[in-house]
Amino acid sequence: MNNFLFYFPVKIKFGIGLWEKLPEEVISFGKRILLVTGKKHLKETGILDKIKSNFENYSFELFIFDEVPPEPPYFIVDQGAKIVNENNIELVVGIGGGSVLDVAKGIAVKCKIPGSIWNYIGADTISNKGIPCILIPTTAGTGSEATRVSVLINPETKEKLSVASDYLYPTLAIVDPYLTLSLPQNYTAYTGIDAFIHALESFLSINNNPLSEAISLKALKLIYNYLPKVYRHGDRIDLREKVLYASTFSGIALTQTGLGAIHALAHPIGVYGNISHGLSCALITLPVLEYNLEVLPREKLILLGRTLGIYSIRSAREKILDKIREFFDTLEIKLGLRNYNITYDSLPLLAKEGLKSRSLRTNPRTLREEELLNLLQRAW
Ligand code: NAD
Repeated sequence: MNNFLFYFPVKIKFGIGLWEKLPEEVISFGKRILLVTGKKHLKETGILDKIKSNFENYSFELFIFDEVPPEPPYFIVDQGAKIVNENNIELVVGIGGGSVLDVAKGIAVKCKIPGSIWNYIGADTISNKGIPCILIPTTAGTGSEATRVSVLINPETKEKLSVASDYLYPTLAIVDPYLTLSLPQNYTAYTGIDAFIHALESFLSINNNPLSEAISLKALKLIYNYLPKVYRHGDRIDLREKVLYASTFSGIALTQTGLGAIHALAHPIGVYGNISHGLSCALITLPVLEYNLEVLPREKLILLGRTLGIYSIRSAREKILDKIREFFDTLEIKLGLRNYNITYDSLPLLAKEGLKSRSLRTNPRTLREEELLNLLQRAW
């Protein structure tokens, strides 16, 4: 076994109804709070109003930054950090999907470093800590509340890349299944698939270790078994909670190990096709997985197979691919990049963009540009 390091500095609180106790959670961090969220869903569900009224009973100054779009551009982080600095904010609270959480954690560090957050794309480029940050997910997907990563888009260059730093871990993650109840059926599937692929790529990563492996397999099994049920019964909080904590588990695992070629290609697919992140992952999964399974050692093949309910090693690779294809079918995912405004001629450009991703470094098989192109062509 290789030596390994497992560092995870996030306090996680999990439970139904915890979001309503937010004022009690923030007391120890200061009085001036920036609440970061998206433009719509928190308002439409009445949750934002309820949070504001809960804060009225306390002597906090609550600033609201509700400008975060899905798949956020880097300059939203710069804008939020400006508000922090102009108003002497002491704590950032992000409540929303992965897009909101990535912006909130970015703001909490950007306010203490010069220049644009885009200058820090890459790993370990930030040299000092930010202000405290609490993250509250409303999708069961990215696991961003448990990762050291903020994924951002540069609209001018059409790049989707990430900043990774231990300073991007939140101080506290409040994970409450109630907040995922309003997630529409299609986003329930897309975000759940993202969590599933995190667990899968973490398990396959060359940096995977015994502890991350246990966490990723647990997450994989939970999502495989429960996401199709949640998809059909989105009002069942007992089902939602399983997929939600599995997505946090996936975040814990992926942040230790890194991801792989599915994520490397999903990012350009998402940007160029304007496709939701989890759906982009689904569209490229089967060709990449088939490629990676060819080098998977027998013991790992057995473990992955068992997690998906396959108990014989005979034709295990084909059976794993079949199980995942069926899983996507139950979630009514239509595969084929051709169905999503991605032209065959654009595939070389997507392969070039995929090559920029750090996720390729932890993929179990080396991939050059021509292999990436080949996988994209098979996914088309
Ligand atoms: P999202 O945050 O983009 O949200 C998708 C849509 O769902 C938005 O319109 C949003 O308003 C809506 N929504 C969110 N929660 C809702 C709810 N409870 N009810 C109703 N509507 C709701 O989607 P996401 O998949 O959570 O996040 C995707 C982003 O996260 C991408 O940019 C992706 O690259 C990034 N990401 C980050 C990490 C990380 O570790 N930081 C990991 C994976 C992905």
